[in-house]
Amino acid sequence: MVELNPNATILEEEGAFAVSDRAAALAAEGRSIINLGIGQPDFQPPEHILAAAQRAARDGPHGYTSPVGMPILREAVADHVAARLGIETDPGEVIVVPGGKVTIFFACALFGGPGTEILYPDPGFPPYREAVRFTGAKAIGYPIREENDFAFDAEEVLSLVTSKTRLIIVNSPANPTGGVVPKQELDKLAEGLLAMPHVAVLSDEIYSHQIYEGGPASLMQVPGLRDRVVLLDGWSKTFAMTGWRLGYGVWPSHLIDHVRKLITINHSCVNGVAQMTALAALTGPMEPIEAFRQTFMERRKVVVDRLNGLPGVTCRVPGGAFYAFPNITGTGWSSRELATRLLEEAGVALMHGESFGDYGKGYLRVSYAASAEAINQAMDRVGEFLANNSPA
Ligand code: PLP
Repeated sequence: MVELNPNATILEEEGAFAVSDRAAALAAEGRSIINLGIGQPDFQPPEHILAAAQRAARDGPHGYTSPVGMPILREAVADHVAARLGIETDPGEVIVVPGGKVTIFFACALFGGPGTEILYPDPGFPPYREAVRFTGAKAIGYPIREENDFAFDAEEVLSLVTSKTRLIIVNSPANPTGGVVPKQELDKLAEGLLAMPHVAVLSDEIYSHQIYEGGPASLMQVPGLRDRVVLLDGWSKTFAMTGWRLGYGVWPSHLIDHVRKLITINHSCVNGVAQMTALAALTGPMEPIEAFRQTFMERRKVVVDRLNGLPGVTCRVPGGAFYAFPNITGTGWSSRELATRLLEEAGVALMHGESFGDYGKGYLRVSYAASAEAINQAMDRVGEFLANNSPA
């Protein structure tokens, strides 16, 4: 009998993919399924990006590029981040990777390992915990609470730091809650971290272009922390390019060589056609991206209003991303049971809150990356289901 690395056998799959596969299987049987489960924009990438992709598919580059990304693309990323956050960014700090997730894995690989601790948000994006556990580090969830509008409480996060803590993962705007951490809370965290020089930060800002109130705030903007903050962002959510598998990290310069090694071991480089397409996205007009944001904002109103109209359901207005995170405790249903039954019986795919951590119990995640018509139809079905069924 072969024996596996025990760190690999304890891992859990990200639930959103399992739900999407099940939704697709039901649809293939001829069932009408509305998918509010997976977190990806339902738009096509803008036309100028698609045109660049066509050109690149013909002209290349078709060979390997630098492992850390083509210099011209690293420059464009540095300019984009600098403009967004009002900070100076050196192209030499930018590392282009195949998807936002890769930066999570690499950060955990570099900072984790047996005997260490990494803090992550609960509820939070499921790969955080799994990537931490894979390295042998202890994954310690910090609570994200509804009463804080789904922002972390900086004091609480700092209280969990020990001498073993190597990394804190923060995510704003957040998956699954849509929460946006207010600037004053980020400042509080930054102040505490300045006195804890052994702790690095992974700041996951993949939803940086889906913020509906206020401007961007990031720990990258704190000069005293720049040598230990890793910024994660990418093309998936901003440009509706989830399937292109394109992301980037902005890393402290002393870590670049370490990440380079991981890349040469793991995937050599991101394919050149995708990098040329990514370049067109960053250097092209941003009006279509602002139009996406406006559309999400309109849908946010639809989904929140409809959820609040359901008996036993309350939903805060999320400040960012494209998720609503309604509290369903008033329905009497467990979130796991309700999500399963809604998919199987009502044809509505959404995520139960527990799949994002223990603090997600009693909530559902509803992605509003779907048309207002689809959202309305889904909410009709949920309402009908709740009216005709009782929890066990
Ligand atoms: N970070 C968060 C918070 C996410 O929600 C996601 C995707 O859902 C990612 C990172 C990963 O993005 P990508 O699809 O580019 O790997």
